[in-house]
Amino acid sequence: MKNLFLVKDKIVIVTGANGGIGRAISRGLSENDAIVYGIDLKTPNTKSGNVFYHKCDVSKPKQFTKICETIFKKHKHIDVLVNCAGISLPNHKSNQQYSQKNWLKTIEVNLTASFYCMQAVIPYMMKNNQGSIINITSINAELGFPENPSYVASKGGLKMLSKSFAKDCGIHGIRVNNIGPGYIKTDMTKNSFKNKKLKKTREKHTMLNRWGTPEDLIGPTIFLASDSSRYVTGQDIYVDGGWLANGLVSD
Ligand code: NAD
Repeated sequence: MKNLFLVKDKIVIVTGANGGIGRAISRGLSENDAIVYGIDLKTPNTKSGNVFYHKCDVSKPKQFTKICETIFKKHKHIDVLVNCAGISLPNHKSNQQYSQKNWLKTIEVNLTASFYCMQAVIPYMMKNNQGSIINITSINAELGFPENPSYVASKGGLKMLSKSFAKDCGIHGIRVNNIGPGYIKTDMTKNSFKNKKLKKTREKHTMLNRWGTPEDLIGPTIFLASDSSRYVTGQDIYVDGGWLANGLVSD
């Protein structure tokens, strides 16, 4: 089989496209000749390579639905959605009391907005009886990390939301899968990356003894976006340097 990982001319929407991981994924897809619509709260409406950036708050479903409508009118297909927009807010106040405001905001952006975005693209994917949705979860979907229950719950929820949509959309040729990154060097993790001790602790949790880079997410995304993964749905691919499989973390 030739050209297994082809994404040429696929119409891809990436949310959080101005962030560390979203930008790398958008660029990687664009360099492989996909046409990418990069959505972010903080981006000017610009073009870079094959990536068309649009400013949009994904927690406002009307804005995102309008963008999908415009994209479909122009191309007559939407092939891939990557839900990558996400936030991690300080949560812990004291004595296991947490900020309700930050709980609600985190669930809204990381979980509810992913639901809205899937709802918006699915009718267009159904018109062509095909599509691939990739939700960016986290190793937090599997493990209890400290002092940020909203983030852990949002990623655990997103993991299962994908499986629920995979079940309902399979009949329409739409696949839904998760990519769960480990620790990746981006704005979101800059504080622990800058702190020598925290940086080292996280490195040691991996089998590859290093942090991930945003570029490490490109290959798995292309796999799930392309026909190589045509019989893969409802799955989790962890891109974590072996963190989740690691049985012993040495000093
Ligand atoms: P980042 O902060 O660099 O990027 C996140 C992007 O999402 C930002 O550009 C931000 O503007 C955008 N965004 C936030 N709220 C939005 C909204 N309402 N509408 C539109 N865009 C919005 O972080 P990142 O590390 O690139 O994270 C990308 C995804 O990967 C997130 O879902 C995050 O939870 C997940 N993740 C990151 C790591 C890591 O180690 N960096 C690990 C696991 C999972």
